[in-house]
Amino acid sequence: MPAPWPCRENCGECCGVVPILKKVFARHQEKAQRLVKTVDCGHFTVPITSDSLCTFLSAEKRCMIYPVRPKVCRQYGQVFELPCPYITMEGRVRTPEQAERLKVAINTMVETTRQVLMSRRVER
Ligand code: SF4
Ligand code: SF4
Repeated sequence: MPAPWPCRENCGECCGVVPILKKVFARHQEKAQRLVKTVDCGHFTVPITSDSLCTFLSAEKRCMIYPVRPKVCRQYGQVFELPCPYITMEGRVRTPEQAERLKVAINTMVETTRQVLMSRRVER
């Protein structure tokens, strides 16, 4: 059996604007933090926060809904479309320069997404 992909503990760098199944969001809504509004996207709710971080990311950088986190969160870093700034798909540690470049690109994309969603109608 291959070794598990080496995600860093208490990182949360990829925990940005993430669509969450409506039924999961409804069940765990009381754990939401820094929530500004939610956007309705079909079967999903997209929680928007004041700081572009996922509403379920705790102050200690832990996922508060880890056992039921979205599929996209489980795939982060392990598929080409969702690059982890720190670790390659093959599980190798990136150089600090590579990490910095990727972090800037990811943060820009997350903030752009947040701004687009902020301009959409309020659901709550
Ligand atoms: S996938 Fe990468 S950025 Fe996301 S928590 Fe793991 S180590 Fe951090
Ligand atoms: S649901 Fe959990 S793993 Fe996914 S972005 Fe939010 S805090 Fe991170």
